[in-house]
Amino acid sequence: MGDQRLNAIRQKMAEASVDAFLVSKPENWRYLSGFTGDSGVLVVTRQEAFIFTDSRYTEQAQEEAPRFTVVETSQDKDAVKETILGLSARKIAFEKEHVSYSAWEQLKERFPDQELLGVSGWVEDLRQKKTPEEIEYITRAQEIADNAFALITQSVKAGVREIDLALELEFTMRKMGSDGVAFPVITVSGVRSSLPHGQPSEKRLEPGDFVTFDFGARFRGYCSDMTRTFVVEPLDQRHREIYETVLRAQLTALEAVRPGIPAKEVDLAGRKVIEEAGYGQYFGHAIGHGVGLNVHEGPRVGKKGETILEPGMVITVEPGIYIPGFGGVRIEDLVLVTEDGKRILSSSPKELTVVKAR
Ligand code: ZN
Ligand code: ZN
Repeated sequence: MGDQRLNAIRQKMAEASVDAFLVSKPENWRYLSGFTGDSGVLVVTRQEAFIFTDSRYTEQAQEEAPRFTVVETSQDKDAVKETILGLSARKIAFEKEHVSYSAWEQLKERFPDQELLGVSGWVEDLRQKKTPEEIEYITRAQEIADNAFALITQSVKAGVREIDLALELEFTMRKMGSDGVAFPVITVSGVRSSLPHGQPSEKRLEPGDFVTFDFGARFRGYCSDMTRTFVVEPLDQRHREIYETVLRAQLTALEAVRPGIPAKEVDLAGRKVIEEAGYGQYFGHAIGHGVGLNVHEGPRVGKKGETILEPGMVITVEPGIYIPGFGGVRIEDLVLVTEDGKRILSSSPKELTVVKAR
């Protein structure tokens, strides 16, 4: 990992007169150091950088994070304390969103004479804007997801269970080179499709169902995220109206994506289409979110998203309409903000797709 990221953190530390910064969230220490383990703590000081981890991970950490001093903590439980006190640090920052109550108690006990400062978003803010390498990994993850989806759509028909489709999609993404899923695959059908984040069940697809797939692959730790909704025949007027309203909202919101505007403008553009069609009450969630090492990260792309979009940010655009007792539709693309507008990373077709009842 480049020193640029550490330098940016050290600048925040200097502004807040902080001598040592304890990083607790694994995605954040992966971002700063390259270390992919999930046990330990990373400490950045004004001059140095350390990874404290147990013997299961020390060799891996040395390999993945050559710029960091790796300290094995299995033998010496006080290694973090001794190192920080050895630097005569007076003010220590920690990630207040990612520290448990017991970890906080331990911090107070270990550093009774130091000032402890809870901070939020120090690393997350940097992570919003992706480097070319990160964009390459996200693009690759999205390609895997699109390719896998093209293969499994042949299996989508009445009589097939939601869980079997979800499993087939996950299996296919793994075979195509995904490190794992970005999040558990969502496959919901019929009345269950009005659950925006429902889990796949043993329900079988039935004639007249909407069926929604929301899924992502992972490549070198980076996520993709997309949603497509089909109709199992017969198609009726209500399906068509809801689907076409969501699609219009999605295309309108995509049209709004460009650098220099607050993220909320993307939400407002798409939401307006749904409201004007009379479905406003059935669209409760934000229209999108940033995607990276976490499937949900900054910037927020909702009604209150004040972050100004910048080239290098990767966001989703995913309006939906969910009608309890009937079903729901969501259409989601992954989008890179570029110098001159945007590049849509998802490539699966979006026109209304009707699959066979048998
Ligand atoms: Zn999604
Ligand atoms: Zn999403």
